[in-house]
Amino acid sequence: MGNFVKNLNKKAPQVGFVSLGCPKALVDSERILTRLRAEGYEISPSYEGADVVVVNTCGFIDSARAESFDAISEAMAANGKVIVTGCLGVDEAGIREVAPKVLSVTGPQQYEQVIEAVHRVVPPMHDPHVDLLPPGGIKLTPRHYAYLKISEGCNNRCSFCIIPQLRGDLVSRPITDVMREAEALASAGVKELLVVSQDTSAYGLDIKYAGGLWRDCVLETRLKDLAEGLGDLGLWTRLHYLYPYPHVDSIIPLMAEGKILPYIDIPFQHAHPAVLKAMRRPAHQEKVLERIRGWREICPDLTIRSTFIVGFPGEGEEEFEYLLDWLREAEIDRLGAFRFESVKGAPASDLEGAVPQTVKDERYERLMEVQQTISLKRQLAKVGRTIDVIIDEVDEEGAIGRSKGDAPEIDGSVFVAGGEALVPGAIVKATVTNADAYDLWAELAE
Ligand code: SF4
Repeated sequence: MGNFVKNLNKKAPQVGFVSLGCPKALVDSERILTRLRAEGYEISPSYEGADVVVVNTCGFIDSARAESFDAISEAMAANGKVIVTGCLGVDEAGIREVAPKVLSVTGPQQYEQVIEAVHRVVPPMHDPHVDLLPPGGIKLTPRHYAYLKISEGCNNRCSFCIIPQLRGDLVSRPITDVMREAEALASAGVKELLVVSQDTSAYGLDIKYAGGLWRDCVLETRLKDLAEGLGDLGLWTRLHYLYPYPHVDSIIPLMAEGKILPYIDIPFQHAHPAVLKAMRRPAHQEKVLERIRGWREICPDLTIRSTFIVGFPGEGEEEFEYLLDWLREAEIDRLGAFRFESVKGAPASDLEGAVPQTVKDERYERLMEVQQTISLKRQLAKVGRTIDVIIDEVDEEGAIGRSKGDAPEIDGSVFVAGGEALVPGAIVKATVTNADAYDLWAELAE
C-alpha cells in the first residue's frame, strides 16, 4: 500500500493522499501536493478526516494494477469521495467497473485536472498561502534526499512495457529548469539527488540538446552537462535508469573524479542477444561486458545496479544459462529480478514460447542464488575500508545510513556503531567491520 502523508493542521480543507508506484509517480504526487499546499489545503493523515482522497495509481504490471484497485476500493469504503490519477487512470472503464462512483479519473502527469477535481469537491482557501511551502516544495522522501525528474515519457518501445503508451514519447525538461530545481532543493537542505526519468541516457534528445544559461555559462540539455552541473552543486548525485548507449561511457570519468556518485543504475533485463532482441531493448547490441570492464578500470569503486527479467517468452534453458554466465563475468553489484508477467497491451504478451510459472520460479531462485554469491564477494571486499556514509536514521543502537553504492529504498544499509549523536543527512566517514550480501556494518572513523 502507498504512503499516507501526515500533517496535523485541522482548520484548512483536508486532502487524503495515497501514492502508489515508482519514483516517477512519487514525483507526480509531490507536484500535486506542492500545488495543493500552495493553495492552503492540508494533508489529512487518515481517510476519515479527509474532505476528499486522491489516489495516485500504478498500472504497470498486473500486481501493481491489483494493488491500485485495492487502494481505490479501500478509499471508497472509508471516505467515498475519491479522485483517481496516475498510470492506471488510462483504464477509466476498468476503474469504473470496480468503483463506479469515483469522482474523476485522469492519467499520469495530469496535475491540472487533479487540482480542478479537488477544487470541485472542496474549494481552495480564500488566499493561497504560498508561504506555507518550504523552498523546494513538499517532498515525500526524507528531507536529506530528493528525486529529481528530468524528463517524462520514453522513445523506446521495449516489448514488455506499456509506459510509452501510458506516458507518451520523451519530453525533456530544459536544463536550466532542472538546475534551478536542484539548487532550490540544495538550499532546502537536500544532500542527495536521485535523478529519475524513464530513460536518463536519452535526456535532451527530443529538444536537440538545446543549450540553456546556468550561472554565466551555457549547459546543453544532455546527460553529461547535467551530471557536471549537478556535480558542481556539491551534493551527492545518483543517476537512475541509464541504458548502455555508447555516450554513457563519457560520464564514468565524472564518477571517478567524485563529481557524481560512482553508481550506475542500468536495467539490462537480460544478456542473451536473442532475448534482448525479442525484448526490443535499446542498445542491445553493444558489447556490454567489455564496457563494464572498461568502466571499472576508470572508476574502480563503481557500483552497478541492474534489473533482469527471467522467463521472458522464448527464454530456454540455454538462454538462461547464458545469462547466469554473463552475470558471473559482469559481477553486477546489486540486482533486482522479476519473473516475466504479461501486461495488457504489451507486444511481448503475444509472443510465442511462454515459460511455465514453475520454470520462472525455479529460474528466479537460481538467478538469485548466483547473485548472492557475487554480491557477498563484492561486499566482503569492502571490509577494512573507510567509506563515506550518509545517515538516514538514528536510534539508541546507533545510526543507519547508506554508502555511495546504496540508493534509498532499493539497496542495502550501513549500520554505524557509535553514531548515536549523528543527525539524518550527515555525511560521515566509517570503517567497515562486517558485511553480508546486502548490508554493511561499520564503526565511526572520526
Ligand atoms: S526504456 Fe523500455 S522499459 Fe523503460 S520505459 Fe522505455 S519502453 Fe519501457
